Amino acid sequence: MRTTHMFIPTLREDPGEAEVISHRLMLRSGMIRKVAAGIYSYLPLGLRVIRKVEQIIREEMNRIGAQEVLLPVLSPAELWQETERWDFYGKELIRCQDRHDRDFCLGPTHEEVVTDLFRREVRSYRQLPVTLYQIQTKFRDEIRPRFGLMRGREFIMKDAYSFDQNEGEAQKNYQAMYEAYHRIFTRTGLQFRAVEADTGLIGGTSSHEFMVLANTGEELIVFDPESSYAANVERAEVVPVERSQSITSPQPLKKVSTPQAKTVTEVCQLLNTTPDRLVKTLLYTTPDNSPIAVLIRGDHQANEIKIQRHLGIHDLTLADSECVRTLTNAPTGFAGPIGLHGLTILADHAVGTLSNFIVGANEADMHYINANAGRDFTIDVTGDFRQAQAGDSSPQSQAKLETARGIEVGHVFMLGTKYSEKMGATYLDSQGAEHNAVMGCYGIGVGRTVAAAIEQNHDDRGIMWPIPIAPFHVHLLPVTNSERVHEVTQALYAELQQANIEVLLDDREERAGVKFNDADLIGSPFQVVIGDKGLAQGTIDLKERIRGEKMPIAPSKLTAYVREKLARDVNWP
Ligand code: ATP
Ligand code: MG
Repeated sequence: MRTTHMFIPTLREDPGEAEVISHRLMLRSGMIRKVAAGIYSYLPLGLRVIRKVEQIIREEMNRIGAQEVLLPVLSPAELWQETERWDFYGKELIRCQDRHDRDFCLGPTHEEVVTDLFRREVRSYRQLPVTLYQIQTKFRDEIRPRFGLMRGREFIMKDAYSFDQNEGEAQKNYQAMYEAYHRIFTRTGLQFRAVEADTGLIGGTSSHEFMVLANTGEELIVFDPESSYAANVERAEVVPVERSQSITSPQPLKKVSTPQAKTVTEVCQLLNTTPDRLVKTLLYTTPDNSPIAVLIRGDHQANEIKIQRHLGIHDLTLADSECVRTLTNAPTGFAGPIGLHGLTILADHAVGTLSNFIVGANEADMHYINANAGRDFTIDVTGDFRQAQAGDSSPQSQAKLETARGIEVGHVFMLGTKYSEKMGATYLDSQGAEHNAVMGCYGIGVGRTVAAAIEQNHDDRGIMWPIPIAPFHVHLLPVTNSERVHEVTQALYAELQQANIEVLLDDREERAGVKFNDADLIGSPFQVVIGDKGLAQGTIDLKERIRGEKMPIAPSKLTAYVREKLARDVNWP
C-alpha cells in the first residue's frame, strides 16, 4: 500500500485523554478513533492488526476442531430470563425494545443463545462433542470504560462454547482449549501467564485467566516463584497460618482516645503500633438489606468476591456513612465488633490468630486496645475472607508468593451443567437415558490482546510490532526525490509484494525526519531507507524496529532476507 492512498491519520502530539501507552500509541499511529466513551472506530491500520489476531485465533480454534458460527448480537430477554441473568447481569447489560415493546439485549456473552441452539438441535450422544466459536462484537455497559480498546463498551471477542457427554470429556475439551490459548498468545508474541481465576458473572466450577504481564494491568496476580502456581488475587486461596506461639495472655480491655484517626495508618501512628496489631471492621449491606460485619487484619485487604461466595450472593456493598451511623452510632472510621449487635460477624482466619488487638469502639474518636475475640465479642464465622498478598505462603511450595500486574486477555471456564440444567440442554445416551450436556466456555478479547501487545512492545518513539501481528512487514522510506531513488523504490515495492510480503510505501512529499518519525510510531518490523548516498555505494539501509540500528544491504538481497525472517516468525508448525 502507498501512504498517499491510505487513511493513516497520525498525530504528532500525545492525545490528552489517553492514560496508558497502548491507548496513546493507537491514537497517535492512526489505528483507532473514539466515537463515544468506550466506543471506537477501527481505522485501516488498526483493523489490519485486529484481523491478524483474529486469523491466529481462527487457525488455532479450527485446529482443535472448534467450528465457527456467527450468533446474533441482539438476543431476546426470554432466554436471559430462563437463566435469571436478565436481572443478575444488572446495568452492564445493554437493553432495548423492538416496535412491539419486546425486550432484547445486546449480547455481552452468548451462553444463553448457544445453549438454546444446542437444545433445539442436539438429541443424541452421537452428535457430541460439539464446540462452536464466533468472533463478534460484544456489548457491556462497563462502569468505567477506559484505556482505549482495553476496556470498551463495544468490543470484539472470540467466544467459544463446548458441549460434552460427561465431566471427563468436558475436562479434555477444556484442556485442549487451554493449550490452544497457549499457542494463540505465544503466536501473537506476548509474554503471558495462565492463572487460576474466579468465575464471576459467567459462573461455573473452574477457570483460568490468561494474563499478559504489564505494569498497567488492571488485575493483580500472585505467583509462586518456585512452582507453577499462579492465581488472580480475587481467587487465590490464603493458607491459614497456625495460631501464633507468641500469643500473649489477654490484657484488660481499654478504651483510648484517637481523635480524627480513621484510617489504619492514622490509628497506628497515634497509638505507636503496626497495622498487623489492628483489626478493621468493614460493614456491608447485602441485597436483602441485612448488614454484615467483616473483620480483617489491618495490613490485609478484604476480598469481596470471597465474602460474596461464602454468603451465596453477588452484590455486596460497603455501607454508606448513614448506614454506618445507624449500625454503630458513630461516624465512619470507628466501627468495631464490641457491642455491635444484630448482625453477623465474619472474621478472616488471620484475625483468629491475634490477641490483644486494636478495634474501633463504635464511638467517634475512640478505639479499644487489648480486644480479644471470645472474651469481648463473638465471631460467627471464621474463613478465608482476605486477598492474597506478596509474602503469603504458597499453597504449592515452601516459597513466599510474589505479586505482578496483568492484563486479562483470555479466560477459560469449566461451566459444568449450570446452563444446560437451567435451559434443558440434554442428550440421550446409548441406553436412551437423558443427561444434561456438560459445558465449557472460552473467551478472548481481540482488541484487548492488541492493546496488550503494544503495552509489551514499544519504546519512546512508538510501537514495535511482533512480526505475526504487524499491520505491515516492511515500511519503505525513500528519502530523496531523485530518479534513481524512485526507480529502486518502485522495483523493491513490486518485488516485495510479489513475494507476499506486506509493504507500506511512504510516497509522501515529506522530509526524511517526518517519515522516520511516522515509521517508528507505526512500528513495522522492517524499515528500509532508500537514499542517494547509500545507492552511490550500492546499498539501502535496513532497520529492524526492535533492534534499532541501521544495516546497509544490497537492494537485490532485501526480499530474501525479509522472507527468511518472516518464515521463522509467521509460520507456525
Ligand atoms: P474483566 O474482568 O476485565 O471485566 P471479564 O472477566 O468480564 O473481564 P470475560 O467475561 O471473561 O471478561 O470475557 C472474555 C474476554 O473478553 C476477557 O478475557 C477480555 O479479554 C475480554 N473483555 C472483557 N471485557 C472487555 C471489555 N470491556 N473491553 C475489551 N475486552 C473485554
Ligand atoms: Mg468484566
